[in-house]
Amino acid sequence: MRIDLHIHTSPRSACSYIDPHELIQEVQRLKLDGICLTEHQVIWDSDEVNELARESGIKIFRGNEFTTNQGDMLVFGLYKDIKELMMIQELSEEVKTAGGYMIAAHPFRGFKTFGIGQLQMTVEQACRRKALEFVDAIEVGNGKLSPDENDMARKVAQKLGLPGTAGSDAHRVDEVGRWATVFEKEIHTELELVQELHAGRFAAIKGEEYL
Ligand SMILES: [Zn+2]
Ligand SMILES: [Zn+2]
Repeated sequence: MRIDLHIHTSPRSACSYIDPHELIQEVQRLKLDGICLTEHQVIWDSDEVNELARESGIKIFRGNEFTTNQGDMLVFGLYKDIKELMMIQELSEEVKTAGGYMIAAHPFRGFKTFGIGQLQMTVEQACRRKALEFVDAIEVGNGKLSPDENDMARKVAQKLGLPGTAGSDAHRVDEVGRWATVFEKEIHTELELVQELHAGRFAAIKGEEYL
């Protein structure tokens, strides 16, 4: 089952241009089985998601993307809005208490732009990023990142023995599905999604491999 785990829609994410209804049409066209709506700091209302999913044949799950002092975190299984910037320790505790799952989103975004590339950051050095001590997984495929940036995330995940998820991080409709996560089992509910994440029964897949 193919799920794009990382999508932003308008108006809940102010930076996104994606109308939720257009999103559904695009997901149907791409033949994805499901999507996760991961708005910034705000969770969708379950009734509204059910309304959107109804008769579309697509599974729609809710997540969140929280900004912390150690970068952005994709969170599943924590059903609350947190408006302020969080310390990663605090968020990690909240997620653990809720039995949720936390993924380091685009952990090496801009690592070349900021000149770390010139300093030749090794995989070993990248593994020491503080955020990675707190996460259940690393986003190893993000549709907004360069191949180098995704590659670094994949190598770091391998070295740390952490699972790798993927999602488009779409902010425009044409970006949907550039990356997805393939789950071994059929997932029907948000609880099952969190269970399958914890069980590690998934793999990252690039859009080119299935579109
Ligand atoms: Zn982000
Ligand atoms: Zn995002």
